[in-house]
Amino acid sequence: MTTLDVLDPSTGELLRRVEAAGTDETDAAIARAHAAFPAWRAVAPADRARLLRRFADAVDGALEELAALEVANAGHTIGNARWEAGNVRDVLAYYSATPERLTGRQIPVPGGVNLTFHEPLGVVGVIVPWNFPLPIAGWGLAPALAAGNTVVLKPAELTPLTALRLRELALEAGIPEDVLQVLPGEGPVVGERFVTHPLVRKVVFTGSTAVGKRIMAGCAAQVKRFTLELGGNNANIVFADADVAKAAATAPYAVFDNAGQDCCARSRILVERPAYDEFMAGLEQAVRGVVVGAPGDEATEMGPLISAAHLAKVSSYVDDADVAFRGSAPTGPGFWFPPTVLDVPADHRAVTDEVFGPVVAVLPFDDEADAVRLANDTDYGLSGSIWTRDLGRALRVSRAVEAGNLSVNSHSSVRYWTPFGGFKQSGFGRELGPDAPHGFTEVKNVFLSQD
Ligand code: NAD
Repeated sequence: MTTLDVLDPSTGELLRRVEAAGTDETDAAIARAHAAFPAWRAVAPADRARLLRRFADAVDGALEELAALEVANAGHTIGNARWEAGNVRDVLAYYSATPERLTGRQIPVPGGVNLTFHEPLGVVGVIVPWNFPLPIAGWGLAPALAAGNTVVLKPAELTPLTALRLRELALEAGIPEDVLQVLPGEGPVVGERFVTHPLVRKVVFTGSTAVGKRIMAGCAAQVKRFTLELGGNNANIVFADADVAKAAATAPYAVFDNAGQDCCARSRILVERPAYDEFMAGLEQAVRGVVVGAPGDEATEMGPLISAAHLAKVSSYVDDADVAFRGSAPTGPGFWFPPTVLDVPADHRAVTDEVFGPVVAVLPFDDEADAVRLANDTDYGLSGSIWTRDLGRALRVSRAVEAGNLSVNSHSSVRYWTPFGGFKQSGFGRELGPDAPHGFTEVKNVFLSQD
């Protein structure tokens, strides 16, 4: 049995060694999930709802413990980690309503009665990245279980601890053992097997666009269902008529939260020329004030990067770039990088790539059309912010920007009541919101003859 070294990114020290599943263990888990499916789908809707509510309550009871685990394993600030654990609880509670509301239709047809059913798919494989281990696990498993599927979930190699604890909480809540399984392991071993194994009927993948393309191609070979939540390179558009001071004061949160390791990070700030100087002055003050340090301290606003390899990658984008100004960060041990604002042209690779770190570029624009052109000048299309006091402009620009999740005069990206996902190479399909359970069912049409 191989193992995964799980580190504390704020110190670089070993936290725990976790057993990694191989292909045989993955096949066995999929077989168990397949065997558990008929009984799980047959659980009466009110009972399945009750089990999901109990699971939500168990997460609620373990909120501080889960948050502390995420602080240690992912380097998330304690405030963020509490929000993330609370998000799993809320998503489970939200989808606990699904079993009793997943209704089909009776459609009028001649010669009999026509019924539609939403049938669960079977085994769903959920593949989770390291940047938000708890919420992204919840967004996949909660609607899948609610719709009557069984789930095998693979956390990222670097961050398996909270997913393993979630599984224990599910068992404590009474979810049957093989209905939700968590398999730490390597992506190309465990994750790849979810794609190739014929009994896995859907793959829910969140991660890089490069791996997402591979998953999509693999699923195509079996016409397997999939959802992809991939990378982003999101624009924060600030018009001169906006509350520029507020836009500048909040811009650091929009990109440095989770140390920029956020697919929704607004890593390109576009500012209308007349507001540029005022915005930069406000941004500099805000960036220099970001509190970077031990993620468990209540006052900390930004923690470390996830790994030494990721630190090297983020640094490589900044090495040849002009820095406009930056905040401070602890020097080692641990994987620290300061919040950094670059002074680079639009074609610099720190602007065109997804850096996935606390690095942002500010680019001026001339007018509305120019802002939309710059915002859309990327293969990605996940999220973005638009700052303006002009309602017509807010509507025009939000309709013109090619992205799945936009906020006007706010940087909010994720609200579990509403659909979340990307345009272009940021993904395929949507998670969350009222329709997510439909993504875990097939519509079956049954005609009953009256003759
Ligand atoms: P990654 O693609 O390297 O890994 C993601 C997951 O896929 C991990 O669990 C990994 O083990 C697994 N994996 C790796 N190779 C695989 C393979 N060949 N087959 C199956 N599974 C495989 O991504 P990452 O570095 O962990 O995460 C960062 C990326 O995730 C960023 O690009 C970020 O934008 C993206 N992301 C997107 C969203 C979203 O909702 N759109 C949310 C969070 C993160």
